[in-house]
Amino acid sequence: MLTADYHVHSISPDAKVPMEDMCRAAVERGLTELAVTDHYEFYAHGVHREFFHEEYLKRCWDSLERCRQQFRGRLTIRRGMEFGQLHLCREEAFSIIQKYPFDYLIGSVHKIENVDLSRMEYTERTVPQIVESYYRNLIELSAYGEFDCIGHLDLVKRHLVKHGFEVKQELCRDYMDEVLGNVIARGKGIEINTSGFRQGVGEAMPGPETLKRYRELGGTIVTVGSDAHRPQDVAADLSAAEMMLREAGFPEISFYERRQRIPGCKVE
Ligand SMILES: [Zn+2]
Ligand SMILES: [Zn+2]
Repeated sequence: MLTADYHVHSISPDAKVPMEDMCRAAVERGLTELAVTDHYEFYAHGVHREFFHEEYLKRCWDSLERCRQQFRGRLTIRRGMEFGQLHLCREEAFSIIQKYPFDYLIGSVHKIENVDLSRMEYTERTVPQIVESYYRNLIELSAYGEFDCIGHLDLVKRHLVKHGFEVKQELCRDYMDEVLGNVIARGKGIEINTSGFRQGVGEAMPGPETLKRYRELGGTIVTVGSDAHRPQDVAADLSAAEMMLREAGFPEISFYERRQRIPGCKVE
C-alpha cells in the first residue's frame, strides 16, 4: 500500500487551507509521509505577480516548520514546493533554492506566455497551438529546470477534455519522448498526479500509456501525488496509482530528503 502523498497544497493562492488541516487529513488516511508542495509561479518577460514574493515564501516555510514540530512522530512532512515555469527564471529559482533548503521540488508548466492553461480559449483553431506550446515549454523545463520530478506531465489533456476536445495521444508522442528522455538523462523523475481521476479526465496525469513508455525508455524514478487543494482530497486514488505502477513494472516509489532521493514505498 502506498502511504505517501507527494503533492498537496495549503496556503497556495488557489487553496488557502491551513497546512495543519492537510496534515491532519494525511494522518487520518493512514499516511506516513506527506510532501506539502505549495505553488510558486514564475513569469516570462520579467513579469512578477504580487503574491509570489519573499514574504509568501517565508510564510510557507514557517508553516512547514510548525507542522513538522506538531506532527513529529506521527507524520513525516517534507518541505516541498511546486515551481511553475521555472525554466523561465532559472537564476531566481536558484536563489530561492539556496535560501530555502527544500526536500522536494516539483517542476510544472501551468502557463504559456503568462496565461494560465485554465484561462485560455479552446477552439478548433487554438487547440493545436496550445498543445504544441505546452509541450515546447515542457521540453524546455525538462531540459533546464531545477526540479526533482515533473508535475502532471500531460496537464493540457485536462483542459482539452473539459472543453470537449479529443486527446490525440499520437500527436504528442514525439514531444513526450523528448521530455521523458531529458528527465531520464538528468536523473530526475516524474509524478503520477491522481487529480485527473476526480477532474473528469478519467485517468491520472500522465496516464498508463505514458507511464509504460517512461519505463520502456529506462525511467525508474516516480512519486505519487493527489494535488489536493482541500483536506478531503488528500491521498485520493493512491490505490489506482499503485495499480498503474504495478502494471507498468515499477517496484517502488521514491521519497526525498533535502533533494536527495531516499528509499520510498514498495509497490504491492
Ligand atoms: Zn500544478
Ligand atoms: Zn499542484
